[in-house]
Amino acid sequence: MGILDDARALTEGGPLCDACLGRVFADRSYGLTNAERGRSLRVAAALEDDDEPEDVDPADCWVCEGLCGQFDEWAERAAATVDGSEDEADAVEFETYQVGTRTPPLVEENEALLREMADLPEDAGEPFKSEFNREVGKRFGRLTDTTVDFGRPDVQFVLDIEDDTVETEVNSAFVYGRYRKLVRDIPQTEWPCRECDGSGRQGRQACDHCGGSGYLYEDSVEGLSAPVVRDVMDGVEALFHGAGREDVDALMLETGRPFVIEIKEPRRRDVDVDRLEGDINAFADGKVEVEGLRLAEHDMVERVKGLDASKTYRAEVEFDADVSAEALSEAVETLSGSTIEQYTPHRVDHRRASLTRTRHVYDASAEHVDARHATVEIHGEGGLYIKELVSGDEGRTDPSLADLLGVSAVVTALDVLAVEGEDEPFEREEFFR
Ligand SMILES: [Zn+2]
Ligand SMILES: [Zn+2]
Repeated sequence: MGILDDARALTEGGPLCDACLGRVFADRSYGLTNAERGRSLRVAAALEDDDEPEDVDPADCWVCEGLCGQFDEWAERAAATVDGSEDEADAVEFETYQVGTRTPPLVEENEALLREMADLPEDAGEPFKSEFNREVGKRFGRLTDTTVDFGRPDVQFVLDIEDDTVETEVNSAFVYGRYRKLVRDIPQTEWPCRECDGSGRQGRQACDHCGGSGYLYEDSVEGLSAPVVRDVMDGVEALFHGAGREDVDALMLETGRPFVIEIKEPRRRDVDVDRLEGDINAFADGKVEVEGLRLAEHDMVERVKGLDASKTYRAEVEFDADVSAEALSEAVETLSGSTIEQYTPHRVDHRRASLTRTRHVYDASAEHVDARHATVEIHGEGGLYIKELVSGDEGRTDPSLADLLGVSAVVTALDVLAVEGEDEPFEREEFFR
């Protein structure tokens, strides 16, 4: 049987709309809608039979029961959930979208029945769902002047035909940047009080462990930055993702540490990042500074959290015996470029499995302040423990500054100057919008 015979067999079972007829042959030819395919087949068969081609209103179609005449309607309904036409509070800014459909079981059964009638494979052409997604999607794109994205769109719709509802999901927006922490004793993320679980209360009383704030520290890098982004993007929640973290008592200086702030369900995403940077820096009031803000793709979160990064530290070091400038510079020269064996330090023993690791010191330099004090700068591989590199950690780290000098040495203040990707920079174009 040829394609026209198949078409004749399909139309014999009752009124069938052009789209439902054409959909059975969706894999034939290009650049046609299924309705155009269906209409063409009907006309070609009528020409061959010297007959008048039938006109079937989708409303009378036994397969889709009118749904193929409702593409415009569903596209308008989807648009209404995000364009603010019904409720200004629903106005959402987006550039990309994706449409999904939940097909009524009855339509799926009809589709199978239709193909069976013409002895065609049950998956001939394409399923109703594909056509509905595409046709509603095309119209939605034209209505809203936006682009379809089959990966991770800004907004996603599920058209539930049976339930007669449009489910709308607004995906997160992401802002990348680097932060400096200019004041000590600020954690990176908010640190809820463990005595009151962040509630600030113990029974009827204010929690005395946290003074009723619910947080162990009044400020955090997250708390000084993320709420500003949440407000500007008008989202419901902000999440802070850092490229590692420094100790609470360490500063983060110079080029800063990469981070991503994720905003859930943002109503605005095309924000002016320069202005946002200014807003955050004003809000953080000199305790924290951000720079290099850019709108990022969602996979920047994984990159920031997962990319191997080297760190540059500056340590204030105190010796328990006099050290000469010459001895110091000789010791630091030995450390520079060396490979360090570190057995898991005493101070982190309880959290990490104990093992000996090797880490590289890429570069080291020192400033001799006086016989008992020095400032040491170390650029090392990620995971290098700096306090132990200085003290030796009772022989668990080898070599160490203390061993090389033959004195006891401790770090009295430790700051991070740079966090950089080991093999490539964090900031690669494909991770930005
Ligand atoms: Zn139909
Ligand atoms: Zn508390």
